[in-house]
Amino acid sequence: MTSPPLDVAGFPVSPDHYINGQRVASNTRFELFSPIDQRLLGEVCEGGESEVQAAIAAAQQAFPAWSALTAAQRKPYLDRFADEIGQRADALCQLESVDAGVLLSRMRHGVVPRAMLNIRWFAEHALDLQNRPIDTEQAHHIVRHDPAGVVVIITPWNAPLMLSTWKLGPALAAGNTCILKPPEWAPLTCSLLADAAHAAGLPPGVFNVVQGTGANTGAQLVSDPRIARVSFTGSVPTAKWIAQAAGANLVPCSLELGGKSPFIVLEDADIAGAAATGALMYRNAGQVCLAGTRFLVHERVRDSFVAAMLAQVERLTVGDPLDEATEVGPIIHPRQVDRVLGFVDRAVAGGARLLWGGARHAFGAQYIQPTMLTDLQQDDEIVQNEVFGPVLTLQTFASDDEAVALANGTDYGLGGVCYGNTEHATAVAQRVRTGFIWVNSFGIRDLAAPFGGIKRSGVGREGGDWSFEFFCDVKDVVVPKKPFTASFSHR
Ligand code: NAD
Repeated sequence: MTSPPLDVAGFPVSPDHYINGQRVASNTRFELFSPIDQRLLGEVCEGGESEVQAAIAAAQQAFPAWSALTAAQRKPYLDRFADEIGQRADALCQLESVDAGVLLSRMRHGVVPRAMLNIRWFAEHALDLQNRPIDTEQAHHIVRHDPAGVVVIITPWNAPLMLSTWKLGPALAAGNTCILKPPEWAPLTCSLLADAAHAAGLPPGVFNVVQGTGANTGAQLVSDPRIARVSFTGSVPTAKWIAQAAGANLVPCSLELGGKSPFIVLEDADIAGAAATGALMYRNAGQVCLAGTRFLVHERVRDSFVAAMLAQVERLTVGDPLDEATEVGPIIHPRQVDRVLGFVDRAVAGGARLLWGGARHAFGAQYIQPTMLTDLQQDDEIVQNEVFGPVLTLQTFASDDEAVALANGTDYGLGGVCYGNTEHATAVAQRVRTGFIWVNSFGIRDLAAPFGGIKRSGVGREGGDWSFEFFCDVKDVVVPKKPFTASFSHR
């Protein structure tokens, strides 16, 4: 039995799972609300033991045939998958905007094109995966990248379409079969991904979607010993749980986690440029893992930077993400609104000063004013912990050494931004302990480049070859060039 589709913003979307090439309903369901106006969008199926078992069995069954194809044979399926995503662009944009509060303009111009590229790019780059030999005097090494098996992909609500395709692209292109567990606060675009895969003719079981909560559906999936890989993006506490569950079966995990990234403004920075980029940190209402949320500004340019940034912030349009003019949308969930404002209230109670913002925005219950706090100590809660809302902090420094010490002075190490004379900023950027850092820019993400964090921001890298290294079992087939003479002294 399948459920009737939900009608969200005029687009039909299935609330069911997608297992073995078919829609599957379950009796247990969870309610889904829009962050825009808290209206009930419908009920989505929650996967229990039978759906989890069915999805793993389907993915296992599909694996031998899918993995036996060459990358060139898989590529047309994946190119069609990307095309089918493109065919659903309008629906994907509207659904993720209504469901997750992501700006419609960003969906249209950034996320959907990127989702298609995520699939297409890895399909293309898998073509030379089996052709990376190593030749030495002694031997010819055939270095194989064999698909690992059934991959579980778990994604968060702040960028479900982008992050799901970022993992599905390389996992499928390398020959794995996949089970996607979408975020329960924003599951709808992942349901449309299943429609796209189905229309593209992906064989049954190659790509499965099991909807549900993390604590139930997600936990069952990552604990299963038949899983070959877990690729997770989300919060630190969940990552620790998953790493333990998967670790019990020695299943490798890729963990892309939270951030508390520095945004450094050196004395020789282009202040107007830094401030314009700084205002981008409020995009998606600050619910962006890689945002530079800790502003570290040279004391001599502090006042001019604050004035330039305030001018930018005063021009920001906070409102309905479906309005293409909106720059700052809603917070995902009422619980998250309380969490974000709790951070602000505790910081102010502890002596921090608000430069701007600090309260709910008049536009609606789930909107928060772009906020900046200053007069902070490095060990303050708000400096040390990820807020995941439109709340930034500002500290000053007097030297490069101090800037680097402050930048490195948290347990996170995901991203960073460094504004200054290019040579100077590049030198400082290289001293920041982080997975990546942008010099005089923000958000440039080439698919060939590695992405991931250090310290509490993650384990492992995805992107380019790093994705294939994770989703594959690398094997060295060693063929000697000269006749081999067996000897116990041979090394
Ligand atoms: P979360 O950890 O609460 O949930 C993420 C996903 O994990 C969801 O699908 C959830 O259902 C699932 N989950 C929860 N418990 C689980 C369990 N026990 N077993 C299996 N799955 C489980 O994170 P969130 O609140 O949805 O997302 C926000 C976090 O994600 C922030 O910390 C943010 O920084 C991080 N994030 C990181 C990146 C990155 O690339 N580094 C990108 C986006 C978001």
